Parts: sequence; structure tokens; C-alpha cells
Amino acid sequence: MATAVCLGELLIDMVSEEADASLQEASRFLKAPGGAPANVAVGLARLGVASSFIGQVGEDPFGDWLRDVLAGEGVDVSHVLRSCMARTTMAYVATRRDGLKDICFYRHPGADALLNTVELRPRMFESARIFHCGGVTLSQSPAREAQMAAAKMAIERDVLISFDPNWRPSLWHDHAEARTATWDMMQLCDVVKIADEEWEFLIGTPDFEAGAARIREAGPRLVVVTRGADGAYFNAGDGRGGIIAGEIPGFAVDAVDTLGAGDAFVAGLLNRLMRYRALNDALNEHSLREALRFANACGALATLKPGAIPALPTQPQVEEFLQSHPPSD
Ligand code: ADP
Repeated sequence: MATAVCLGELLIDMVSEEADASLQEASRFLKAPGGAPANVAVGLARLGVASSFIGQVGEDPFGDWLRDVLAGEGVDVSHVLRSCMARTTMAYVATRRDGLKDICFYRHPGADALLNTVELRPRMFESARIFHCGGVTLSQSPAREAQMAAAKMAIERDVLISFDPNWRPSLWHDHAEARTATWDMMQLCDVVKIADEEWEFLIGTPDFEAGAARIREAGPRLVVVTRGADGAYFNAGDGRGGIIAGEIPGFAVDAVDTLGAGDAFVAGLLNRLMRYRALNDALNEHSLREALRFANACGALATLKPGAIPALPTQPQVEEFLQSHPPSD
């Protein structure tokens, strides 16, 4: 069976249970599984796609718990490694009175960032159709090099490469380096999903069309910008020299917590793209609009419950949601 392989950070989010309290003020925290590529692996599994995860946790109870959570969701965890050199990465998270998130990472180093190229094996990509990774793993060596090496191994096997830059300023000492690493990675990719808040910093222009043209020149064939409640923008080459671009409106829902919405969206998009024999078969107006409507539904559903993994929708939930929200045109 065709599988999706996700690589990257698998970590513990310690989320403050108090509303409107900074990290300095908060005193109670709830342990939650986190890491964007891990969320995507679970999101894909919930949509019925066989997914596997490549990453590293510490030899500690938190790492064992994270592995169990993924396995319990049906994700193949046989490539989740355990490091004796560092603890499982943690991020403490609180929402301050002004609505901004206070985030403090325990990753000096963390086990996820010590993932090493020498640990990669060709069998990790056996029967893979899609390889998905993100920008957090690019922020430290040796995991950055391991991710680039894994993408190259996947390319050699004709696997579709998907990337979400997921820019987290606090993880980068040098912000210009984040931009360079993102562009280096994008050169290896077929599909890139970028959130609108990070677009201008990473791409260097507020203009989606001009920025997408630059990205496509670097390699990717499909560029998607997520725009929160407003849905998504897409821009793709049609393989015959033409460009297909447009916007897909989001669904109006009573959002409770948008954590993980982007990851649910990616899982939805990749689930649709995997239905085609080749990416080029999906790069037409009709197929892209259908895929992105599905992805928007996944993103919207993920906002209805607190937390990332608990809120990721299943295939029947997305189908029911789409039936009850027919297209307006
Ligand atoms: P990220 O989580 O990567 O920052 P976004 O916040 O843009 O990404 O959300 C990803 C997708 O989730 C959006 O494109 C949209 O489909 C859906 N989404 C996010 N927030 C909302 C919302 N408030 N209402 C409806 N859909 C939403």
C-alpha cells in the first residue's frame, strides 16, 4: 500500500491550563503531544492513509509516551529513534493577557534535533508515495542535514516531496539563516504550504503571485498559502507552461482553538494528491479546487476542539462536513 512518510520533530507541549497568564505567572501545565510533522502523520492516518514517522525522542518516559500516542493512532513508529544523548524536546506554552503566545523551548539540544543522517535507511522509504517535512527540523544540526538527506533519498525513489516552513523565530539565532535554509529545502520540493503570517518574511514580497512565481522557479510545482478563516490561495504550473492560480474560501465555523489547523490542512491536501498517479495529473483547476476545499474542511474541523492531535478529523467527519457545506457556486 502507498504510504506517506513524515519526518521531523515529535515533542511534548506543556500547555498552561490558566487563561491569560504568562509563562512566568502560570503554575499548572497539561502534557500534550506536539510537533507539526507528527501531527500531519496522525492527520493522514485519521484520513485512512498509511503513514509512518521518522524522528527522534529521548530515552525517557516522555519519549515512550509520544511513541505510544502515534502508534495508538495507527502511525508506523518503527522509525522513531531513541537518543541517549538528549532528552525528549519540550515546549512550554501559555497564552498571555494580550492574546500572544509565550513559548519556551527546552531543546539545548533536544533529542529531535540530534537526528543524524547515519540513522537513515532506504527501507524507511519503501512503498512511499509522499515525503513530508517542516522547517523546525532545519533550525539545528545535525537534524537539518538529516532532513535534507532524507528528502534526497526520497527524490531518488520518485517520492513526492512536501514541505511546510513553519517558521518559529525563537528557534533561530539568525533569522536570515532561516530564510536561506527554507529556500535550500524548497529547491528539493514539489509541494510547499506556507502560512500567510510567515509569507512575507520568508518569501520577501507581500504579493502571493510574484512570490509563488519565485518559488516555482526554484523547483516546487504547487504553492499553497493558508489564510486562517479566509481559506487558502494556490498557484501551480500546469506542466504546459501555463499557470493555474486562485483562492478557495474557508468555511465559517465557531473556532475554539486553531492549534494544528495548518497540519490538518496539510494532511487533507496530501490525502487528495495521493489519489493521483502523478502530481501533474492533479495540477488542473478542477482537481486543485476539489483538493483544497477538502483541505480547508480539514483545517476548519481542526479548530473546533482544543489541542492539535485530538482535533484532527477522520475521513467520515470530513465527508459529512463537506456534504453539509455544499459549494456556494
Ligand atoms: P497555520 O496553522 O499553519 O498557521 P492557518 O491558521 O492559516 O495555518 O490555518 C490553516 C487552515 O485551517 C486554513 O487555510 C483554513 O482552511 C483552516 N482554518 C484555520 N483557522 C480557521 C478558522 N478560524 N475558521 C475556518 N477555518 C480555519
